[in-house]
Amino acid sequence: GKSAGRGVVSVFASAMAKHAVLQLELERELRQALLLNEFRLVYQPQIRLADNRLIGYEALIRWNQAQRGEVSPVDFIPFAEQTGIIASIGDWALDEAIRQLESWAQAGLAVVPIAVNVSALQLANLGFADSVIARIKRLPVFLQCLIQLELTESTLMQAPSIQSIRQLTQADIAVHMDDFGTGYSNLAMLSRMSLSKLKFDRSLIQNIPDNHAHQQVCRALLDLAHALQLEVVAEGVETQAEALWLAEQGVQYAQGYWFSRPLEKELAARYMDGVTE
Ligand code: C2E
Ligand code: CA
Ligand code: CA
Ligand code: CA
Repeated sequence: GKSAGRGVVSVFASAMAKHAVLQLELERELRQALLLNEFRLVYQPQIRLADNRLIGYEALIRWNQAQRGEVSPVDFIPFAEQTGIIASIGDWALDEAIRQLESWAQAGLAVVPIAVNVSALQLANLGFADSVIARIKRLPVFLQCLIQLELTESTLMQAPSIQSIRQLTQADIAVHMDDFGTGYSNLAMLSRMSLSKLKFDRSLIQNIPDNHAHQQVCRALLDLAHALQLEVVAEGVETQAEALWLAEQGVQYAQGYWFSRPLEKELAARYMDGVTE
């Protein structure tokens, strides 16, 4: 009856209120995290399949929250995007990667490129490309090409984002397409974009030696990459069988737990060879 209906509504309303409170709390904590320096980057090796050598790192954000402990980016990045805090977090991540690269170079390490993840929301901001270019161009020239950007496919949809990508690539900043093969692909736009690499999504790579359908898709995407003269990184490679299959197909690069988990910066430094002692 009516009262039961109201009961449901009020339970729902109070759940909503709780949800809103939790969201406000998380938003406050994310702002705090920037002030308290609770974020850090970890670095996952990208490997050349032909000789298993390190060719670069992907920088991945980590958040160690005072009460909650480690919070996964999967849990806070989408929220940071909803609230707009992603702009500040993204700025922090880029600056941190730049600082890290400079510090590794100063320590005499044979530095490799660091790819930084960029959210679609950052890219849609007018002024984003200029700000990135300015920060990268402050680096010594030999380091400028070692900061690269990873974008997800969905960002290709909006005009301001396309303009940002053009500005970045015209300034010789390498832009990689992340999570490729998960939908959204606008092939016409892709061909006009001057990207450097396509990163094939983990969902495509998983179990590929046993998945005939995925093999077909992967081969078709590789043909596409070759036609567009784009290099390919296979993501989420977890087994030797996957790595071997990909190498046989002519995939140049791979990233995944089979090679290495994301590394804390100290370990990442040790992984780079050519220390000039
Ligand atoms: P992504 O950019 O696709 O990053 C790859 C994710 O897959 C990372 O998760 C990585 O740790 C994980 N991974 C790597 N190899 C394997 C594997 O072999 N198996 C499996 N199961 N997973 C693997 P992570 O670090 O939790 O990041 C999740 C997502 O959060 C990222 O996906 C990216 O979309 C986002 N993210 C991380 N850092 C940043 C950042 O600084 N800025 C922005 N905007 N997004 C970020
Ligand atoms: Ca990425
Ligand atoms: Ca990815
Ligand atoms: Ca992803």
